[in-house]
Amino acid sequence: MPRTAVVWFRRDLRVHDHPALSRAVAEHDRVVPLFVVDDRLLVGRWASANRAWHLAGALERLADAIAERGGTLAVVRGDPRSVVVEVAREVGATTILATRDLSPYARGRDEAVAAASAAHGIAFLAGRGQLVHEPEELRRDDGGPYAVFSPFQRRWEALPIRDPLEAPVAIRSDPLPSAAGSTILEVLGDRRPTADPELLLEPGEPAARRRLARWATSDALRDYDQGRDRLAEDGTSRLSQDLRWGTLSPVEVLERCAGPGRGRERFRAEIAWRDFYTHLLWREPSVLRRSFRREFDALSWSSDDQAVQAWREGRTGYPIVDAAMRQLLATGWMHNRARMIAASFLTKHLLVDWRVGEAHFMEHLVDGDPASNNGGWQWAASTGTDPQPYFRIFNPTLQGRRHDPDGSYVRRWVPELAGLTGPDIHEPPPGRYLEPIIEHGAARRRALDAYGAARSSAGG
Ligand code: FAD
Repeated sequence: MPRTAVVWFRRDLRVHDHPALSRAVAEHDRVVPLFVVDDRLLVGRWASANRAWHLAGALERLADAIAERGGTLAVVRGDPRSVVVEVAREVGATTILATRDLSPYARGRDEAVAAASAAHGIAFLAGRGQLVHEPEELRRDDGGPYAVFSPFQRRWEALPIRDPLEAPVAIRSDPLPSAAGSTILEVLGDRRPTADPELLLEPGEPAARRRLARWATSDALRDYDQGRDRLAEDGTSRLSQDLRWGTLSPVEVLERCAGPGRGRERFRAEIAWRDFYTHLLWREPSVLRRSFRREFDALSWSSDDQAVQAWREGRTGYPIVDAAMRQLLATGWMHNRARMIAASFLTKHLLVDWRVGEAHFMEHLVDGDPASNNGGWQWAASTGTDPQPYFRIFNPTLQGRRHDPDGSYVRRWVPELAGLTGPDIHEPPPGRYLEPIIEHGAARRRALDAYGAARSSAGG
């Protein structure tokens, strides 16, 4: 009897440095690569046309990479809790291998698959590959988990990192009879992004590897500590969708970007943030519904639908906020500094519940990730792990002047202001642009009062 394994791909759409795939190939005679299109991806709480479009492209490239190695990727639509084991039984597999996925939904799903496969005598093994370090590997000296980034990062930096794996040379598999003939397009449907297709980055492992190769040798990486906050420049890696979908492994990204210097050091720290928020969500799944700092569950959020709509569409009257929100709609991506400014504006100036912003970002971001997005939103709303108090309220005009000093970012995304030059663009003369929907000083005072009241009512 040939030994057969199913490799179930999820958010690890690559063949390089893929521990589950390499192990399957090394230990089995036949390997059946499988992706299950779960309806949740297309219509669930956080479905996104931009991410579905990116997924379709990444799957096409994965299918090509597997075909080049002699195998066939099976793409099947259905509920993974039943489909995966059905496929394993159809091909006579003894093992299902996958990359561990730590979101609450993924954990529940994987537990169900593990139970169903055990009932049929099939092993289900989900292992490393999505993160640099697994949550169990990072514990404080007293054994507890980290809730603050700085000590987490020190420990994270001290742990050894495994070597990235080569892509397998050959993948021996026969097409899955029940999936034969159906193309990825047929299974997924024609996925049109809401963003401008011209402005979306090319999906899939080959394009991701080209991006990484360029970034790893760039001056921008060397100067990342300086350039990462400059809104108008290409000062960041643009690898987030590749890490989100696993078309790149974070271990390989780190290895390729290793070296001395502040820029590289700072870049490593951002990859550590990614692990940090993923670990946090694994340990505290409730953050997807409520504030990490419980006292802020008592906050009286505002429900001004018109203001929220203005924010979503980039019509707040604050050029830097509007540029950020329009960049998101047009490209399915937003610069990190812009995410911080836009999120602070919604939660502090408009006093709107961070979950409203979290959902809007998840709808549009190609890199939308439950852990990093939630971490970013709770950071901006001061309801998360950040030890900084809630008094941090960004002044959008000053943020614009500091991080977009010559106004190029605003001019790019708010063409109505293209005629203005210099710092004026961040505070256009009266009548020249939309009136700000809220005055900064008044908004600041309202936020401080509301946060203070929530803390007092919680006894803080
Ligand atoms: P780079 O600056 O080149 O960073 C390299 C990589 O490090 C990124 O690709 C990402 O994987 C990781 N990274 C960087 N910053 C962070 C961070 N603060 N938290 C976690 N990981 C980080 N990132 C997402 O990947 N998905 C999200 O849904 C997401 N939502 C966010 C929401 C808010 C409100 C905020 C403030 C931040 C959010 N981030 C999110 C983090 C960050 O903005 C993006 O990772 C970054 O802008 C992606 O661009 P880049 O690849 O050029 O980043």
